[in-house]
Amino acid sequence: MKDTIKLDPWGTTDIRDYSKLFDLFGIEPLDKSKFRAFESNRYIRRNIDFGHRNLERILKAIENNELYAVMSGIKPTGPFHLGSKMTADDIIYFQKISRNARAFYAIADVEAYCDNGLTFAETSEIATNNVADILALGLDPDRAYVYKQSEALTVMNMAFIFSRGVTNNMMEAIYGKKPFGLYVSALIQAGDILLPQTEGFGGPKPVLVPVGADQDPHIRLARDLAKKYYPDFKFVLPSAIYHKLTRSLSGEYKMSKRDPLSLLTLDDNPTLAKKKVMSCFTGGRETTENQKKYGGEPEKCVNYELCVIHFAEDDALVKKIYNECVQGKRICGDCKKEAAELVTNFLNEHQRRKAKLIDKSRELLARSREQLILSLK
Ligand code: SF4
Repeated sequence: MKDTIKLDPWGTTDIRDYSKLFDLFGIEPLDKSKFRAFESNRYIRRNIDFGHRNLERILKAIENNELYAVMSGIKPTGPFHLGSKMTADDIIYFQKISRNARAFYAIADVEAYCDNGLTFAETSEIATNNVADILALGLDPDRAYVYKQSEALTVMNMAFIFSRGVTNNMMEAIYGKKPFGLYVSALIQAGDILLPQTEGFGGPKPVLVPVGADQDPHIRLARDLAKKYYPDFKFVLPSAIYHKLTRSLSGEYKMSKRDPLSLLTLDDNPTLAKKKVMSCFTGGRETTENQKKYGGEPEKCVNYELCVIHFAEDDALVKKIYNECVQGKRICGDCKKEAAELVTNFLNEHQRRKAKLIDKSRELLARSREQLILSLK
């Protein structure tokens, strides 16, 4: 039944079994044997990126030295959290893997206004901070277009044009019953996804959208619209790659900015972050004795997830943690200390890099499309 999992880009999405999304929504499983070229992507290698739509199109573009775009964005409502980092890491990966790749990063300030009631002055400050994060993570600014939805006239025009191609029933079927403003912001997101294919950016081309699984409704809408408007715009059907959602530190599904204590952010003071990790939900047994006897349950453990998804660079370390856990050779307190050290090392280094990139972030947000086009030549 389709309603056993609800994918809600604006609400809470609870996915225990990602394989269900293949039948329910037509997401394709990410068969690593078909995409060996992307083996250096840690998320793909470790099955964190679990599904896709038309990823073959991007692989083909890379093999044929064709221009393609990788696009996604962030809703500027607070500091970068680990979910935002996953999307950013995939953008950066697919930007760096080919010199023919161009990255597009949308600051969804219109959505933040509609969904969260934040003013454009508030989101502008947050956006500067968020863009400094993606730069510190490694985005190449010379091959990137970073823009605010509210300032992107083409995106707005596309949303307006697309409004003729949808009905209330269609929006409700994709998103459920939502306030009218969210349907409008969904059309703006479709404008974001298809922006790299507009005339001003060189026309139709493959576009890859890395997103969390809960954002799939936006991908479906954009693909529907790409088909519907093919006669006018000759859009290539956008591709997508989906990552699993990062759980909150308390083990609830999806780390969310709506619950600040449940999430680790890239702005967290490393000492505070350490405390958060030390009190996160684990898959440990009730007693040390039972832990040694039966082993822990890494599949349930948020601390293990922090290592496997985010902070352990080395595959051998991930394997070691898993094996020692299930064999009862690891005690959660020590294991969390080890993870906390990985987290604090990462944050110290990231925050050091980021502090130097605030001016660059402002410059990038102020840069016009024309300057970008020139810089790409
Ligand atoms: Fe999690 Fe480590 Fe405890 Fe295993 S030993 S359950 S991985 S915290």
